[in-house]
Amino acid sequence: MDKLVYASDLDQTLIFSRRFLNVHQSEGDFVCVERRDDTELSYMDREVQTNLKCLAEDSRVIFIPATTRDLMRYNRVKLWQGAAPEYAIVSNGGFILHNDEPIPEWSEIVTSAIDHTSCKEITRYFETKFKTRSTEVEFVDSIFLLCKLDDVSEFDAAAAELNEIYSDWQFERQGHKCLAIPANVTKGSALKWLCENILNPQYVVTSGDGALDLQMLEYGDYAFIPDTSPLRPMNVQVAAGGARSALKTMDFIEKRLGEIFLL
Ligand SMILES: [Mg+2]
Repeated sequence: MDKLVYASDLDQTLIFSRRFLNVHQSEGDFVCVERRDDTELSYMDREVQTNLKCLAEDSRVIFIPATTRDLMRYNRVKLWQGAAPEYAIVSNGGFILHNDEPIPEWSEIVTSAIDHTSCKEITRYFETKFKTRSTEVEFVDSIFLLCKLDDVSEFDAAAAELNEIYSDWQFERQGHKCLAIPANVTKGSALKWLCENILNPQYVVTSGDGALDLQMLEYGDYAFIPDTSPLRPMNVQVAAGGARSALKTMDFIEKRLGEIFLL
């Protein structure tokens, strides 16, 4: 049976921190979707949540969350009450989960692609050149490096040099978090492998807001970026609505489903 895949980034695309909602003066009825102990961490617009759950339960649609979050931080997110999505791309593509378990074939591909020599060198570079907030540079899920800096200008100034020395790694910053990720471990490469080897969908829609989403956006037959993102990639539709911009993406999917499945 024909399928449509809808793969979406989570943070700043579907779910948002209170700070983000305040900065962007987001109006709406927001539901908490992530807690750590008693602290609420992330929210989703209630209408987005209702429509997304409905879409994810549609037998013609496979909804795939695709996030740079590690396994622990992904598992903390409950997009809705009830069963979690069947597939998920986690750790920036390091894992493809099927019913909460990593697909081993993909994990083998990722593991063999990680160059441990340069990984150690980059860790040393981070530890010696940056004033890290915590002493540890974290090797997240044994896939990518993360450290938190007080002065992020140190990282911004070094990123070009790092990119030159380690061309098979990508260096990105998300606020105070600085990341070094093997260049071939991306949400886009994971989605491509999943689609080509397991799902074989007829149509792929993607959405995301950050630099680490660009390959995934490119892979989509149709792609959306929320209007709150500063990025404007070629051939990607800007979805208006800020924290409710996913409604535009889902409207598009509903229409596309009508066209695809009538053919
Ligand atoms: Mg994001």
